[in-house]
Amino acid sequence: MQQLIDRIRKDGVLKPGNVLKVDSFLNHQMDIELINEIGKEFKHRFADLDITKIVTVEASGIGIACIAAQYFHVPVVFAKKAQSVNIDGEVYSTQIQSYTHKRIYDVMISKKFIGPKDKVLIIDDFLANGCALVGLIELVSCAGASVEGIGIVVEKGFQTGGEVIREMGMRLESLAIVERMDVETGEIFFRGE
Ligand code: 5GP
Repeated sequence: MQQLIDRIRKDGVLKPGNVLKVDSFLNHQMDIELINEIGKEFKHRFADLDITKIVTVEASGIGIACIAAQYFHVPVVFAKKAQSVNIDGEVYSTQIQSYTHKRIYDVMISKKFIGPKDKVLIIDDFLANGCALVGLIELVSCAGASVEGIGIVVEKGFQTGGEVIREMGMRLESLAIVERMDVETGEIFFRGE
């Protein structure tokens, strides 16, 4: 998605540890017009699917998922990060290793909001090593629901997540795929350019 690539190149900031910061338009301040175009693009790429729910993880996926959901006309369910997992059987839970904070979170979705009839589109902001997506896929699978597609805003193609998820047979669409980024010069190279 060229508009997104241009914006990342203009306003993205490279940090040590292969982190691309997009705080000025996606992860802190949010450019709603751009995110609206992102939502439309997800709808366009997954137009053939009959989606009943969009699933994401708090916090940064929520805004993007909500805007996309307006085009799919379905609810958003976000996996909550929990201090300790509720063991009363009311939730599906798993653990996710956070790429940016280097710690492990318990995440959960209430059994009330996802079930075997659901056809799910997972949406998230970044794909790095794939831990967040593997966790979300696990939660959806535990509910007996199907993952029909996965929409990612920025995939870091030089990390392993894309391969892991595609090898699982998932239909993964990433709107911008970074092939290489140079923290010294600030240059970012995208797939397909
Ligand atoms: P993964 O679980 O695929 O290793 O990492 C994905 C998660 O880590 C995303 O939900 C995102 O919040 C965060 N993340 C990973 N890499 C980056 C990055 O380069 N920049 C930002 N802003 N977040 C990232």
